[in-house]
Amino acid sequence: MGSRGRLEEIGLQILRCRACDLWRERKNPVPGEGDPAAEIMLVGEAPGRREDESGRPFVGAAGKVLELALRGAGLSRGEVFITNLVKCRPPGNRDPSPGEVRACSRFLLEQVRAIGPRVIVALGRHSSRFLASQVGVRLDSILRFRGRVLRGRVGGVDVSVIPTIHPAAAIYNPGLRPLLEEDLKGAARLARGGSYG
Ligand code: URA
Repeated sequence: MGSRGRLEEIGLQILRCRACDLWRERKNPVPGEGDPAAEIMLVGEAPGRREDESGRPFVGAAGKVLELALRGAGLSRGEVFITNLVKCRPPGNRDPSPGEVRACSRFLLEQVRAIGPRVIVALGRHSSRFLASQVGVRLDSILRFRGRVLRGRVGGVDVSVIPTIHPAAAIYNPGLRPLLEEDLKGAARLARGGSYG
């Protein structure tokens, strides 16, 4: 089965999943979207209200910031794969709990295995902490780790993980936007076989 079929299968598993309680209040699960053979995956935290309503990742205010940063890095939504660590909306946009992350993260790992990206950009502290832990790094602070490339195996795939700030943080602090764009530019260079910096 090709990566598109495998991603569809994972999407169905997410739709049927009852491993935590988030399915009870969600309108739609948000499995993710983009190129099934993307060289770059972007991983956010969890769907917000607009994402829950539409079933698509990063379509609200944070999505606008992300799209501008992608464009600034010479990338488009269609050529990357955008998803989240947790696939259903936590009520009231609260942080996902450790139990919810434990229950849901296997879907992210299966998506990584299906797509086989070169680079994973972790948006914000939840996905950064999780993905760093997969490559054996204990991440305590985004601002300390952003701009670094963490190499290792995630979901059985050799990747470079780039922890960066969450686009929602850049809504409230526009001074962070250039950092997000810089990290996406580095991701694009790495994906083309060049160096991050
Ligand atoms: N914030 C996230 O982390 N993910 C989304 O899909 C939207 C907002």
